[in-house]
Amino acid sequence: MAYQQEERGGGFRAWINEGAGKVVTIIVVILLIGVAGWAGYRKWNERGSSKARKVYEAGHTLKYICESCKNSGESNFPYDVAFPAKCPQCNEMAAYPAFACRACRKMIRNTGGALVICPHCQHQHHIEQMPANIPPPPPIR
Ligand SMILES: [Zn+2]
Ligand SMILES: [Zn+2]
Repeated sequence: MAYQQEERGGGFRAWINEGAGKVVTIIVVILLIGVAGWAGYRKWNERGSSKARKVYEAGHTLKYICESCKNSGESNFPYDVAFPAKCPQCNEMAAYPAFACRACRKMIRNTGGALVICPHCQHQHHIEQMPANIPPPPPIR
């Protein structure tokens, strides 16, 4: 068994040193250099992209409340996030933008309507008392 493996290994080495084997080896090396160069170019291109783009892609911190696991807090969401978004706690698509109630400080869902009534203390929040539902993304230059 061990002898057979040694034989195959030796045969491969001999094949590489042969004419056809040499050609295949050179082609493989050229392909590898090409792939490495392409990857390097891609990386260089990305590095050249504007700072604004990076800020945009990093997303932003939003207060959220999850209708599934009832967790709330702050998490990073992309600027083009659509709600309900993926909850960072339970991974359900049940996270909604939220804000802290002005009266009881509990997190409540920001429905985006003109009036949000706190389900905990019934305090009424008019639209001018609420934070913007989703802040606008930074401009991309
Ligand atoms: Zn959840
Ligand atoms: Zn409240």
